[in-house]
Amino acid sequence: MNLVNIVEHLLHLTKAEFGFEAKTTTTTSDEIFASQQLFEILKAFKHSCFNELHTYDSLEFDDEYDDMMDDDSSDDSDDFEENQDPDIRNYFTLEEKKSIVEWIDQHPNYTISSILHRFRKVKSMTYIKIFREYISQNGSNLEEKTQTGLDKFRSVFPNQKSELLIFPEGSTGYVQPQDLSLFRSWKFIHKKIEHYTRINRTMINMSDHQYFINMQSVIHNQLSAPSFKNLTKSGFINAGIIDETIEELGKPKDICFKFYDLYCSMNNYENRTLLICAWCKKHFCHYHLIEKIHIHL
Ligand SMILES: [Zn+2]
Ligand SMILES: [Zn+2]
Repeated sequence: MNLVNIVEHLLHLTKAEFGFEAKTTTTTSDEIFASQQLFEILKAFKHSCFNELHTYDSLEFDDEYDDMMDDDSSDDSDDFEENQDPDIRNYFTLEEKKSIVEWIDQHPNYTISSILHRFRKVKSMTYIKIFREYISQNGSNLEEKTQTGLDKFRSVFPNQKSELLIFPEGSTGYVQPQDLSLFRSWKFIHKKIEHYTRINRTMINMSDHQYFINMQSVIHNQLSAPSFKNLTKSGFINAGIIDETIEELGKPKDICFKFYDLYCSMNNYENRTLLICAWCKKHFCHYHLIEKIHIHL
């Protein structure tokens, strides 16, 4: 790739689009600085990473569990909203941090812009500094933690046959059964309820405290219904804890939120349906479900 050709063509494009602006006689220091920055980017092309721009591997996780989950729960990005103050340490797994730092160390000639382009989740070079600190601290912390954990473990389980296993950081989402099933559905129902209250401008006539308790109790009670037995079980299967196959997987999306009766069964068609109870299959509005708390024991 010939850099001069690129610059000549760039000049042509710039003149064609911005040539009408009167040319000032001298180049300002800001303009020189901007050119130097562009030149750094241009040099990155020379180091052939231009060819890689379309081929690098993204570090984004594909959510392989999505196909068995509720569609709406795939936007779990509320856990790490980009415009919220990002907690850099937790946003990346230890493995990701290590692999990024390792890659940078192996490619000392790459410029900052090409690094940021390659790892889209890395927003600035400050991240790399934090990663390095984290990796060096975490290595020693893990050893310490393991030792303390082992001491405590032995005091409770003195038998040498008992073994302490520590899951590596970042693995919870893959091995904790409820992370693989129930929590997503829980969030899904929660979102639906919140959505309903916003759309219908529902008046809530109780304290926040009581409202929260009622809502969580109702969600828990709904997900405890027999229709969701397989859903809960699927988490244990995906985590590799039990070895079974499931034929039908009931999801809240189909069981609670596919309804044709648009009004609550409990009064004279005054309130909109929020969900169908997974236990009794009646239609409930927000008031009768949550404020009057509809629970099956
Ligand atoms: Zn019911
Ligand atoms: Zn009602």
